[in-house]
Amino acid sequence: MLIGRLIGVSRYRLSPTPAQEQVLAEHCGHARFVWNLAIEQHAHWKPGRKSGPGFAEQCRQLTQARAEFEWLRGGSIVVQQQALKDFAQAMANFFGKAHRKPTWRKRGQGEGFRIVAVKAGDVRRVSRNVGEVRVAKVGWVRFRWSRAVPGGVKSYRITRDHAGRWHVAFAAIPQPIPAPKTGEVVGVDRGVAVSAALSTGELLVVPTLRDMEKARLLRLLRKLARAKRGSNRRSKVKQAIAKLKARETNRRKDWVEKTSTDLARRFDVIAVEDLKVGYMTRSAKGTLEAPGRNVRQKAGLNRGILAAGWGLLVRRLEHKAPGRVWKIDPRYTSQTCNACKHTARESRESQALFLCVACGWRDNADINAAKNIRDTAVGHTVAARGGAPSGGPVNREPQRDLLLVG
Ligand SMILES: [Zn+2]
Repeated sequence: MLIGRLIGVSRYRLSPTPAQEQVLAEHCGHARFVWNLAIEQHAHWKPGRKSGPGFAEQCRQLTQARAEFEWLRGGSIVVQQQALKDFAQAMANFFGKAHRKPTWRKRGQGEGFRIVAVKAGDVRRVSRNVGEVRVAKVGWVRFRWSRAVPGGVKSYRITRDHAGRWHVAFAAIPQPIPAPKTGEVVGVDRGVAVSAALSTGELLVVPTLRDMEKARLLRLLRKLARAKRGSNRRSKVKQAIAKLKARETNRRKDWVEKTSTDLARRFDVIAVEDLKVGYMTRSAKGTLEAPGRNVRQKAGLNRGILAAGWGLLVRRLEHKAPGRVWKIDPRYTSQTCNACKHTARESRESQALFLCVACGWRDNADINAAKNIRDTAVGHTVAARGGAPSGGPVNREPQRDLLLVG
Protein backbone atom coordinates (compact mmCIF):
# COMPACT_ATOMS: atom_id res chain seq x y z
CA MET A 1 0.00 0.00 0.00
CA LEU A 2 1.41 3.35 -0.97
CA ILE A 3 0.70 5.42 2.08
CA GLY A 4 2.20 8.43 0.39
CA ARG A 5 -0.53 8.39 -2.17
CA LEU A 6 -3.19 8.52 0.47
CA ILE A 7 -2.03 11.70 2.08
CA GLY A 8 -4.00 14.84 1.46
CA VAL A 9 -6.86 12.87 0.09
CA SER A 10 -10.52 12.71 0.94
CA ARG A 11 -12.18 9.36 0.63
CA TYR A 12 -15.80 8.72 -0.32
CA ARG A 13 -17.94 5.63 -0.53
CA LEU A 14 -18.59 4.76 -4.14
CA SER A 15 -21.84 3.09 -5.20
CA PRO A 16 -21.43 1.70 -8.70
CA THR A 17 -24.22 -0.18 -10.45
CA PRO A 18 -23.55 -3.91 -10.98
CA ALA A 19 -22.65 -3.21 -14.63
CA GLN A 20 -20.24 -0.45 -13.62
CA GLU A 21 -18.79 -2.66 -10.94
CA GLN A 22 -17.80 -5.14 -13.59
CA VAL A 23 -15.80 -2.58 -15.56
CA LEU A 24 -14.24 -1.21 -12.38
CA ALA A 25 -13.15 -4.74 -11.51
CA GLU A 26 -11.63 -5.05 -14.99
CA HIS A 27 -9.64 -1.85 -14.42
CA CYS A 28 -8.41 -3.34 -11.15
CA GLY A 29 -7.44 -6.52 -12.98
CA HIS A 30 -5.49 -4.56 -15.59
CA ALA A 31 -3.68 -2.50 -12.96
CA ARG A 32 -2.81 -5.68 -11.07
CA PHE A 33 -1.58 -7.41 -14.24
CA VAL A 34 0.66 -4.50 -15.21
CA TRP A 35 1.99 -4.15 -11.66
CA ASN A 36 2.83 -7.85 -11.49
CA LEU A 37 4.49 -7.66 -14.89
CA ALA A 38 6.73 -4.92 -13.53
CA ILE A 39 7.49 -7.01 -10.43
CA GLU A 40 8.53 -9.89 -12.64
CA GLN A 41 10.86 -7.69 -14.67
CA HIS A 42 12.50 -6.44 -11.50
CA ALA A 43 12.75 -9.90 -9.95
CA HIS A 44 15.99 -10.52 -11.85
CA TRP A 45 17.59 -7.47 -10.34
CA LYS A 46 20.40 -8.04 -7.82
CA PRO A 47 22.45 -5.44 -5.94
CA GLY A 48 25.38 -4.32 -8.07
CA ARG A 49 23.74 -5.23 -11.32
CA LYS A 50 22.37 -2.74 -13.77
CA SER A 51 19.01 -1.59 -12.52
CA GLY A 52 15.80 -3.07 -13.82
CA PRO A 53 13.89 -1.39 -16.64
CA GLY A 54 12.89 2.18 -15.91
CA PHE A 55 9.48 3.73 -16.33
CA ALA A 56 10.00 4.70 -20.01
CA GLU A 57 11.18 1.24 -20.92
CA GLN A 58 8.25 -0.33 -19.11
CA CYS A 59 5.85 1.95 -20.96
CA ARG A 60 7.24 0.60 -24.23
CA GLN A 61 6.72 -2.90 -22.93
CA LEU A 62 3.18 -1.99 -21.96
CA THR A 63 2.53 -0.89 -25.53
CA GLN A 64 3.79 -4.27 -26.70
CA ALA A 65 1.67 -6.11 -24.15
CA ARG A 66 -1.40 -4.16 -25.29
CA ALA A 67 -0.68 -5.12 -28.88
CA GLU A 68 -0.45 -8.73 -27.78
CA PHE A 69 -3.40 -9.09 -25.42
CA GLU A 70 -6.78 -7.97 -26.62
CA TRP A 71 -8.32 -7.86 -23.14
CA LEU A 72 -5.57 -5.49 -22.05
CA ARG A 73 -5.98 -3.36 -25.16
CA GLY A 74 -9.67 -3.03 -24.38
CA GLY A 75 -8.85 -1.40 -21.06
CA SER A 76 -7.88 2.14 -20.16
CA ILE A 77 -4.32 3.15 -21.03
CA VAL A 78 -4.40 5.69 -18.18
CA VAL A 79 -5.18 2.98 -15.64
CA GLN A 80 -2.41 0.78 -16.96
CA GLN A 81 0.21 3.52 -17.22
CA GLN A 82 -0.58 4.75 -13.73
CA ALA A 83 -0.06 1.24 -12.39
CA LEU A 84 3.46 1.45 -13.84
CA LYS A 85 3.93 4.89 -12.30
CA ASP A 86 2.79 3.54 -8.94
CA PHE A 87 5.27 0.74 -9.27
CA ALA A 88 8.11 3.14 -10.15
CA GLN A 89 7.17 5.19 -7.07
CA ALA A 90 7.08 2.06 -4.91
CA MET A 91 10.58 1.14 -6.12
CA ALA A 92 11.83 4.66 -5.41
CA ASN A 93 10.36 4.42 -1.91
CA PHE A 94 12.03 1.07 -1.49
CA PHE A 95 15.44 2.37 -2.55
CA GLY A 96 14.90 5.39 -0.32
CA LYS A 97 14.33 2.84 2.47
CA ALA A 98 10.98 4.39 3.29
CA HIS A 99 8.98 1.34 2.34
CA ARG A 100 9.34 -2.35 1.91
CA LYS A 101 9.99 -3.82 -1.50
CA PRO A 102 6.86 -3.91 -3.64
CA THR A 103 5.35 -7.37 -3.87
CA TRP A 104 2.94 -9.29 -6.03
CA ARG A 105 -0.64 -8.19 -6.01
CA LYS A 106 -3.22 -10.84 -5.55
CA ARG A 107 -6.80 -10.80 -6.63
CA GLY A 108 -9.04 -9.38 -3.93
CA GLN A 109 -6.21 -7.83 -1.97
CA GLY A 110 -5.77 -4.09 -1.97
CA GLU A 111 -7.32 -3.77 -5.39
CA GLY A 112 -7.47 -0.40 -7.04
CA PHE A 113 -6.38 1.88 -9.81
CA ARG A 114 -5.62 5.52 -10.33
CA ILE A 115 -6.91 8.08 -12.80
CA VAL A 116 -4.91 11.23 -13.50
CA ALA A 117 -5.40 14.40 -15.52
CA VAL A 118 -8.82 14.86 -13.93
CA LYS A 119 -10.67 17.89 -15.29
CA ALA A 120 -12.84 20.26 -13.28
CA GLY A 121 -16.01 18.85 -14.85
CA ASP A 122 -15.18 15.25 -13.98
CA VAL A 123 -16.53 15.50 -10.46
CA ARG A 124 -19.97 16.91 -9.77
CA ARG A 125 -22.60 17.07 -7.10
CA VAL A 126 -26.02 15.87 -8.11
CA SER A 127 -27.89 16.23 -4.84
CA ARG A 128 -27.30 16.97 -1.19
CA ASN A 129 -25.80 13.57 -0.43
CA VAL A 130 -24.82 12.30 -3.85
CA GLY A 131 -21.89 13.14 -6.08
CA GLU A 132 -20.69 11.66 -9.35
CA VAL A 133 -17.25 11.05 -10.74
CA ARG A 134 -16.44 10.33 -14.36
CA VAL A 135 -14.39 7.17 -14.82
CA ALA A 136 -12.80 6.15 -18.11
CA LYS A 137 -14.77 3.40 -19.88
CA VAL A 138 -17.32 3.40 -17.05
CA GLY A 139 -19.00 6.78 -17.18
CA TRP A 140 -20.51 8.64 -14.24
CA VAL A 141 -20.30 6.67 -11.02
CA ARG A 142 -22.18 7.80 -7.93
CA PHE A 143 -20.55 8.34 -4.57
CA ARG A 144 -21.79 9.45 -1.18
CA TRP A 145 -21.14 13.18 -0.80
CA SER A 146 -20.20 12.84 2.87
CA ARG A 147 -18.18 16.07 2.91
CA ALA A 148 -17.04 18.73 0.45
CA VAL A 149 -14.75 17.52 -2.31
CA PRO A 150 -11.58 19.65 -2.22
CA GLY A 151 -11.05 22.05 -5.10
CA GLY A 152 -8.37 21.43 -7.69
CA VAL A 153 -8.60 17.64 -7.77
CA LYS A 154 -5.81 16.41 -10.04
CA SER A 155 -6.17 12.68 -9.64
CA TYR A 156 -8.16 10.06 -7.83
CA ARG A 157 -7.83 6.46 -6.85
CA ILE A 158 -10.63 3.94 -6.81
CA THR A 159 -10.24 1.00 -4.47
CA ARG A 160 -12.13 -2.08 -3.44
CA ASP A 161 -11.68 -3.39 0.08
CA HIS A 162 -11.85 -6.94 1.45
CA ALA A 163 -15.54 -6.60 2.04
CA GLY A 164 -16.12 -5.63 -1.59
CA ARG A 165 -16.87 -1.99 -0.82
CA TRP A 166 -15.72 0.57 -3.34
CA HIS A 167 -14.21 3.94 -2.46
CA VAL A 168 -12.95 6.90 -4.39
CA ALA A 169 -10.18 9.08 -2.96
CA PHE A 170 -9.55 12.49 -4.48
CA ALA A 171 -6.06 13.94 -4.24
CA ALA A 172 -5.55 17.66 -4.31
CA ILE A 173 -2.37 19.64 -3.78
CA PRO A 174 -3.05 22.14 -1.00
CA GLN A 175 -2.55 25.86 -1.44
CA PRO A 176 0.87 27.05 -0.25
CA ILE A 177 0.83 28.80 3.12
CA PRO A 178 2.45 32.26 3.10
CA ALA A 179 5.69 32.59 5.06
CA PRO A 180 5.47 34.66 8.25
CA LYS A 181 8.51 36.72 7.08
CA THR A 182 10.05 36.77 10.51
CA GLY A 183 13.32 35.29 9.31
CA GLU A 184 12.92 32.43 11.73
CA VAL A 185 14.44 29.07 10.86
CA VAL A 186 13.41 25.88 12.60
CA GLY A 187 15.37 22.65 12.61
CA VAL A 188 13.34 19.45 12.69
CA ASP A 189 14.96 16.19 13.64
CA ARG A 190 13.39 12.84 12.97
CA GLY A 191 13.65 11.19 16.33
CA VAL A 192 13.31 7.62 17.42
CA ALA A 193 11.72 7.95 20.84
CA VAL A 194 9.71 10.93 19.61
CA SER A 195 8.49 11.41 16.07
CA ALA A 196 10.08 14.77 15.56
CA ALA A 197 12.04 17.22 17.68
CA LEU A 198 12.13 20.93 16.94
CA SER A 199 15.06 23.22 17.59
CA THR A 200 12.63 25.28 19.68
CA GLY A 201 12.64 22.43 22.18
CA GLU A 202 9.24 21.05 21.23
CA LEU A 203 8.85 17.29 21.02
CA LEU A 204 6.21 15.99 18.65
CA VAL A 205 4.74 12.52 18.81
CA VAL A 206 2.71 10.85 16.08
CA PRO A 207 -0.45 9.52 17.69
CA THR A 208 -0.86 5.77 17.41
CA LEU A 209 -3.46 3.41 18.82
CA ARG A 210 -4.47 3.87 22.44
CA ASP A 211 -3.58 1.14 24.93
CA MET A 212 -7.12 -0.23 24.88
CA GLU A 213 -7.04 -0.37 21.10
CA LYS A 214 -3.63 -2.01 21.07
CA ALA A 215 -4.90 -4.68 23.45
CA ARG A 216 -7.92 -5.22 21.22
CA LEU A 217 -5.68 -5.50 18.16
CA LEU A 218 -3.59 -8.15 19.89
CA ARG A 219 -6.71 -10.09 20.83
CA LEU A 220 -7.96 -9.89 17.24
CA LEU A 221 -4.61 -11.05 15.86
CA ARG A 222 -4.72 -14.08 18.17
CA LYS A 223 -8.28 -14.77 17.08
CA LEU A 224 -7.20 -14.54 13.45
CA ALA A 225 -4.48 -17.10 14.00
CA ARG A 226 -7.07 -19.52 15.39
CA ALA A 227 -9.78 -18.87 12.80
CA LYS A 228 -10.16 -21.32 9.97
CA ARG A 229 -9.15 -20.17 6.50
CA GLY A 230 -12.08 -19.08 4.42
CA SER A 231 -14.44 -19.06 7.38
CA ASN A 232 -16.95 -16.33 8.04
CA ARG A 233 -15.42 -15.69 11.42
CA ARG A 234 -12.04 -15.13 9.86
CA SER A 235 -13.25 -12.50 7.44
CA LYS A 236 -15.06 -10.72 10.29
CA VAL A 237 -11.88 -10.66 12.38
CA LYS A 238 -9.93 -9.44 9.38
CA GLN A 239 -12.37 -6.60 8.87
CA ALA A 240 -12.13 -5.58 12.52
CA ILE A 241 -8.32 -5.55 12.25
CA ALA A 242 -8.44 -3.47 9.07
CA LYS A 243 -10.73 -0.99 10.82
CA LEU A 244 -8.33 -0.53 13.73
CA LYS A 245 -5.38 -0.09 11.40
CA ALA A 246 -7.29 2.45 9.33
CA ARG A 247 -7.98 4.37 12.52
CA GLU A 248 -4.27 4.52 13.25
CA THR A 249 -3.50 5.66 9.70
CA ASN A 250 -6.12 8.40 9.93
CA ARG A 251 -4.66 9.68 13.18
CA ARG A 252 -1.23 9.79 11.63
CA LYS A 253 -2.56 11.68 8.61
CA ASP A 254 -4.36 14.20 10.80
CA TRP A 255 -1.21 14.74 12.77
CA VAL A 256 0.82 15.30 9.61
CA GLU A 257 -1.72 17.84 8.32
CA LYS A 258 -1.81 19.80 11.56
CA THR A 259 1.93 19.70 12.13
CA SER A 260 2.88 20.70 8.58
CA THR A 261 0.40 23.59 8.58
CA ASP A 262 1.68 24.77 11.94
CA LEU A 263 5.34 24.69 10.86
CA ALA A 264 4.64 26.37 7.52
CA ARG A 265 2.80 29.20 9.34
CA ARG A 266 5.33 29.76 12.10
CA PHE A 267 8.67 29.62 10.30
CA ASP A 268 10.21 31.06 7.16
CA VAL A 269 12.57 28.16 6.66
CA ILE A 270 12.01 24.61 7.83
CA ALA A 271 15.27 22.67 7.88
CA VAL A 272 14.97 18.91 7.83
CA GLU A 273 17.50 16.18 7.38
CA ASP A 274 17.91 14.83 3.89
CA LEU A 275 16.06 11.55 4.03
CA LYS A 276 18.30 9.76 1.55
CA VAL A 277 21.50 10.68 3.34
CA GLY A 278 19.81 10.14 6.68
CA TYR A 279 18.86 6.60 6.01
CA MET A 280 22.29 5.72 4.74
CA THR A 281 23.96 6.94 7.88
CA ARG A 282 21.32 5.87 10.31
CA SER A 283 20.78 2.24 9.59
CA ALA A 284 19.96 0.14 12.61
CA LYS A 285 23.60 -0.88 12.89
CA GLY A 286 25.07 2.42 11.78
CA THR A 287 28.43 3.09 10.24
CA LEU A 288 31.81 3.93 11.71
CA GLU A 289 31.52 7.65 11.22
CA ALA A 290 27.89 7.79 12.20
CA PRO A 291 26.74 5.05 14.51
CA GLY A 292 23.11 4.17 14.18
CA ARG A 293 20.70 5.91 16.43
CA ASN A 294 18.01 3.32 16.12
CA VAL A 295 18.31 0.92 18.96
CA ARG A 296 17.49 -2.66 18.26
CA GLN A 297 14.14 -2.89 20.00
CA LYS A 298 12.92 0.08 18.02
CA ALA A 299 13.88 -1.55 14.76
CA GLY A 300 11.30 -3.23 12.62
CA LEU A 301 7.66 -2.34 12.46
CA ASN A 302 7.77 0.63 14.80
CA ARG A 303 10.55 2.23 12.82
CA GLY A 304 8.64 1.66 9.62
CA ILE A 305 5.63 3.49 10.99
CA LEU A 306 7.74 6.39 12.18
CA ALA A 307 9.55 6.52 8.87
CA ALA A 308 6.26 6.59 7.00
CA GLY A 309 5.02 9.42 9.21
CA TRP A 310 8.23 11.32 8.66
CA GLY A 311 8.13 10.90 4.90
CA LEU A 312 4.56 12.20 4.83
CA LEU A 313 5.43 15.16 6.99
CA VAL A 314 8.26 16.26 4.69
CA ARG A 315 6.13 15.81 1.56
CA ARG A 316 3.31 17.85 3.04
CA LEU A 317 5.72 20.54 4.17
CA GLU A 318 7.01 20.80 0.63
CA HIS A 319 3.45 21.28 -0.59
CA LYS A 320 2.56 23.88 2.00
CA ALA A 321 5.89 25.70 2.15
CA PRO A 322 7.34 25.31 -1.35
CA GLY A 323 10.95 26.53 -1.53
CA ARG A 324 11.05 26.95 2.24
CA VAL A 325 11.94 23.38 3.14
CA TRP A 326 15.68 22.86 3.13
CA LYS A 327 17.19 19.43 3.26
CA ILE A 328 20.32 19.23 5.35
CA ASP A 329 23.02 16.59 5.35
CA PRO A 330 22.35 14.95 8.72
CA ARG A 331 25.82 13.49 9.28
CA TYR A 332 27.20 14.38 12.71
CA THR A 333 24.07 16.27 13.70
CA SER A 334 23.47 13.68 16.38
CA GLN A 335 27.06 13.70 17.67
CA THR A 336 27.87 17.38 17.59
CA CYS A 337 27.44 19.51 20.69
CA ASN A 338 25.24 22.45 19.83
CA ALA A 339 26.91 24.60 22.51
CA CYS A 340 30.62 24.12 21.69
CA LYS A 341 30.44 22.26 18.33
CA HIS A 342 32.67 19.45 19.62
CA THR A 343 31.88 16.24 17.77
CA ALA A 344 32.19 12.94 19.57
CA ARG A 345 30.24 9.73 19.50
CA GLU A 346 30.69 9.44 23.24
CA SER A 347 28.64 12.57 23.79
CA ARG A 348 25.60 10.61 22.84
CA GLU A 349 25.03 9.45 26.40
CA SER A 350 21.97 7.42 25.55
CA GLN A 351 19.13 7.29 23.09
CA ALA A 352 17.52 10.23 24.81
CA LEU A 353 20.35 12.25 26.31
CA PHE A 354 23.18 14.25 24.80
CA LEU A 355 26.00 14.99 27.25
CA CYS A 356 28.98 16.77 25.71
CA VAL A 357 32.29 15.16 26.69
CA ALA A 358 34.08 18.47 26.02
CA CYS A 359 31.95 21.11 27.72
CA GLY A 360 29.40 19.20 29.73
CA TRP A 361 26.38 20.63 27.86
CA ARG A 362 23.37 18.41 28.24
CA ASP A 363 20.20 18.39 26.21
CA ASN A 364 17.59 16.07 24.86
CA ALA A 365 19.50 14.23 22.13
CA ASP A 366 16.88 14.83 19.45
CA ILE A 367 16.55 18.52 20.29
CA ASN A 368 20.33 18.93 20.22
CA ALA A 369 20.29 17.38 16.72
CA ALA A 370 17.40 19.63 15.65
CA LYS A 371 19.39 22.68 16.78
CA ASN A 372 22.36 21.51 14.72
CA ILE A 373 20.12 21.08 11.69
CA ARG A 374 18.79 24.61 12.20
CA ASP A 375 22.31 26.02 12.59
CA THR A 376 23.49 24.31 9.42
CA ALA A 377 20.63 25.94 7.54
CA VAL A 378 21.33 29.33 9.14
CA GLY A 379 25.04 28.96 8.34
CA HIS A 380 24.12 28.42 4.76
CA THR A 381 22.02 31.55 4.58
CA VAL A 382 24.99 33.48 6.00
CA ALA A 383 27.38 31.81 3.58
CA ALA A 384 25.14 32.64 0.66
CA ARG A 385 25.50 36.31 1.55
CA GLY A 386 29.22 36.17 0.96
CA GLY A 387 30.67 34.25 3.88
CA ALA A 388 32.66 31.06 3.61
CA PRO A 389 30.57 28.18 2.31
CA SER A 390 29.68 25.60 4.86
CA GLY A 391 27.60 22.48 4.80
CA GLY A 392 24.17 23.48 3.65
CA PRO A 393 21.02 22.42 1.97
CA VAL A 394 21.71 19.75 -0.53
CA ASN A 395 18.62 20.38 -2.56
CA ARG A 396 18.46 23.98 -3.57
CA GLU A 397 19.92 27.43 -3.42
CA PRO A 398 18.26 29.68 -0.88
CA GLN A 399 15.85 32.20 -2.28
CA ARG A 400 16.66 35.88 -2.01
CA ASP A 401 13.74 36.81 0.19
CA LEU A 402 14.63 34.10 2.64
CA LEU A 403 18.11 35.40 3.38
CA LEU A 404 16.95 37.23 6.44
CA VAL A 405 18.99 35.34 8.98
CA GLY A 406 22.41 36.18 10.33
ZN1 LIG B 1 30.07 20.89 24.12
